[in-house]
Amino acid sequence: MAFEGLTGRLQSVFSKLRGKGKVSEDDVNEAMREVRLALLEADVNFKVVKDFVAKVKEKAIGKEVMESFTPGMVIIDIVNKELTELMGGTQAKLAKANKPPTVIMMAGLQGAGKTTTSGKLAKLLQKGNHRPLLVAGDIYRPAAIKQLEVLGEQIKVPVFSLGDKVSPVEIAKQGLQHAKDNNLDYVIIDTAGRLHVDEELMEELKQIHATVKPDEVLLVVDAMTGQDAVNVADSFNKQLDLSGVVLTKLDGDTRGGAALSVKAVTGCPIKFAALGEKIDALEPFHPERMASRILGMGDMLSLIEKAQANIDADKAKEMERKMRNAEFTFDDFLEQMDQVKKLGPIDQILDMLPGMNKAKGMKDLKVDDKQMGRVEAIVKSMTKKEKSQPEIINHNRRKRIAAGSGTSLAEVNRLIKQFDDMRRMMKQFSGMMGGMGGGKASK
Ligand code: GDP
Repeated sequence: MAFEGLTGRLQSVFSKLRGKGKVSEDDVNEAMREVRLALLEADVNFKVVKDFVAKVKEKAIGKEVMESFTPGMVIIDIVNKELTELMGGTQAKLAKANKPPTVIMMAGLQGAGKTTTSGKLAKLLQKGNHRPLLVAGDIYRPAAIKQLEVLGEQIKVPVFSLGDKVSPVEIAKQGLQHAKDNNLDYVIIDTAGRLHVDEELMEELKQIHATVKPDEVLLVVDAMTGQDAVNVADSFNKQLDLSGVVLTKLDGDTRGGAALSVKAVTGCPIKFAALGEKIDALEPFHPERMASRILGMGDMLSLIEKAQANIDADKAKEMERKMRNAEFTFDDFLEQMDQVKKLGPIDQILDMLPGMNKAKGMKDLKVDDKQMGRVEAIVKSMTKKEKSQPEIINHNRRKRIAAGSGTSLAEVNRLIKQFDDMRRMMKQFSGMMGGMGGGKASK
């Protein structure tokens, strides 16, 4: 996951400060030296690092901080606020035209994730009750048009295409007209990328820009490329007047430098972050939440928002009732897994919880989607009766389930044991809540 190294290093700097009742100027200097190294190692632009450290130092060395009751905490707070500022301060929202449709032009180098992000953005807008149109303007990359059409089909968003023999400027122009004619309120224009920033590419983008006069020009950059992403953003911005940046591949083990430098270097705010290949892995970028994630303080707000948007409240209540009455079956287990999956990949959910990155063993815990898939396969290979009365699942049945789900007997045994433990715990819990004292859980 992104920022892991940076978070770890910053936390060790702060835990030293936190332990101190009094903080001297030397302590602050030493801490800032380490913060500086941590940021440089995370591939943050060196000038950005220099300014950042100077700002934090200036605030931290003030009399109030050093004489405060908890100087360490106050300094962490200063770093948190400055990190937030560095990434733009407040959330930069997507532009909205006074008169629809709002035109969004996507730009970026090949492979940055432009086409994928166009689809994700359409999905996000659609979730907000908008009617987007995707325009296939990348006529050079083989299969880019097809890729957009497949994405559009998947999310039921119309895709405007004129094949690859018509100029991108003409496609953009006709696409916009198509949106107007069909009363669509957002137009997302996918454009061609190149391997490097070049004259010809910029010229084409400028022409499209002049023709459709977009309300928003979003540059898609790959966060994994670190400083390169920032340099690319800088050169695009000099020629195209970007209105925002989308950082992709933040789910990978990027060191995070791009997220922390892009706004400071280019002046362009990061508007969205992409955290995976799936169609719903795009989120509005919140600087304050990102800062708190980087500092290992979790991002409960994003998690709560996700839960509210995706989890069925009635189902959650029913599940709670079942757990309390220890009526939980394998069917409920599957259902619960489905709900959790809607929140996104498990490791990203864990990442949003405060302190999870520090929690013992969490780093090595790889609960990936594939593993969830295997668990699901096991449960689905059970008969109806087995699901509701797991106690009947004997050795022979386990062998059958393992064969049916393409897993091993050991995996089936493990899952059933976990499920039993869980049920026993629930029983005990509900007993306690009923004031009965509960039975002793046998281990
Ligand atoms: P384009 O050339 O800029 O249009 O790039 P594509 O949209 O085709 O994306 C290039 C590759 O990056 C594809 O394999 C995408 O699935 C992948 N990709 C895009 N965004 C993300 C992301 O946020 N996370 C990950 N892991 N992969 C991504």
